[in-house]
Amino acid sequence: MTKHDPKFNFDNTYARELEGFYVPWQGEEAPAPAVVQFNEELAKNLRLDAAALNSADGAAIFAGTIAPEGATPLAQAYAGHQFGGFSEQLGDGRALLLGEILDQSGTRFDLHLKGSGRTPFSRGGDGKAVLGPVLREYLMGEAMHALGIPTTRALAAVTTGEDVLRDGVKPGAVLARIASSHLRVGTFQFFAARKEWDKVRQLADYAIARHYPDLVDADEKYLKFLSAVAERQARLVAAWLHVGFVHGVMNTDNMTISGETIDYGPCAFVDAYDPKAVFSSIDRDGRYAFGNQPVIAQWNLTRLAETLLPLIDADDGDNAVRLATNVINGFIELYTGIWTDGMRAKIGLVSTEDSDAALINGLFVAMDGQNVDYTQFFRALADAALGQDADVLTLFDDAGSITPWLKTWQDRLLRDNQTPVDRREAMNAINPIYIPRNHRVEEALQAAEAGDIAPFNTLLSVLQAPFTKRDGLTDFEGPAPDGTAPYQTFCGT
Ligand code: AMP
Ligand code: MG
Repeated sequence: MTKHDPKFNFDNTYARELEGFYVPWQGEEAPAPAVVQFNEELAKNLRLDAAALNSADGAAIFAGTIAPEGATPLAQAYAGHQFGGFSEQLGDGRALLLGEILDQSGTRFDLHLKGSGRTPFSRGGDGKAVLGPVLREYLMGEAMHALGIPTTRALAAVTTGEDVLRDGVKPGAVLARIASSHLRVGTFQFFAARKEWDKVRQLADYAIARHYPDLVDADEKYLKFLSAVAERQARLVAAWLHVGFVHGVMNTDNMTISGETIDYGPCAFVDAYDPKAVFSSIDRDGRYAFGNQPVIAQWNLTRLAETLLPLIDADDGDNAVRLATNVINGFIELYTGIWTDGMRAKIGLVSTEDSDAALINGLFVAMDGQNVDYTQFFRALADAALGQDADVLTLFDDAGSITPWLKTWQDRLLRDNQTPVDRREAMNAINPIYIPRNHRVEEALQAAEAGDIAPFNTLLSVLQAPFTKRDGLTDFEGPAPDGTAPYQTFCGT
């Protein structure tokens, strides 16, 4: 990896301040790097020279072959619970943190490569990624960002020119992504498992300074840090449930301290509302099912809390456990409050009444077993706010199952001080019309793997404005046609 190219103004705090938390490393040489996708808008926001990077030089940088000036490429150490079982050592087995850059508002981001070759953390893996999953992460991240959900984002996707063996031979690829940081619950677990409490403290101090600066001088700062992470995760998972997103692999190494969605592997969006929805072929017990995600977030936060106990109260372990347990036990209530507020907005309420929770629960009872498309429902409901019920009714197998609820809801709206036209507009501003429909995603990725990137670009542009209905895009609004096989995602990434 030769040093080259002065286009990034790196300021690498992780490399500088956290020695011992990573291994300095280099990307493997890619035989023929080529840019497949480049995120111009993001590059501009990051004050990068888009023209210079969307090029052969850029491709070599994003493939990991060339380290740009100022980069300190490194593989981060982390551990993690995967499907409930603990691995003491995972780490960046196929990824490198190149460094950190500041965007035009001064916000700090990691620039990270995924698929850049083997590292000391690779275990049995080949260190590679392939084009389909790389583009999938690109697309899903951009879709989530456009939906207003905190997420890592793709800066570029490149092919390496190498054949990579998965289920068959696939084009090797690397994703260059940015993230508020790559601090994971699993990063804390790595050092706690080794009882390296000084390192856990150093990591917590770093995480607080970077993500929760208001807490730097706070009393009980580690307890408050735990509460603050819990709140960001509650907001994140509520946002997922509001749009029907299933992450699919909420292992503790895939849960960030910043509260961003990370590591889009077997994720998918539900069509019909179904709390049991699972898409990942390996999630046989439904651990990471759609409706299970809040409880799993709580479980993951409990693992984070365990790593912080000696910091919360070094002298009195029982007290530390008591304090942390209070935070963890409060999580579901915190989550439910946030989720309910969001649902209130989704159904067009601006005031708050005690009976709202029952109204919202009643909606889910009415939808149960009715094959109602979750996304289309809320757009149709915005029309029902103007008294046009027809589209809502046709979404239900049995329209009779929603009519009593509609009546209660319309009565409730009369007690809100908002005109029907404004209400419809407000609802349509937060209820997407376009989400990454599974059949559309697959179609776009298959075409891209076969060399045709056009369907991917079309889908990406549709998803970049998810709330704005446009002419000619009806085909992107609905679920897969009846009779399509149930959607399944695979971890062969
Ligand atoms: P993920 O499932 O992508 O969240 O990754 C879980 C762990 O497996 C991380 O430590 C990864 O670095 C590692 N990993 C995943 N795929 C590979 C691969 N192809 N080669 C080496 N390590 C990998
Ligand atoms: Mg991961």
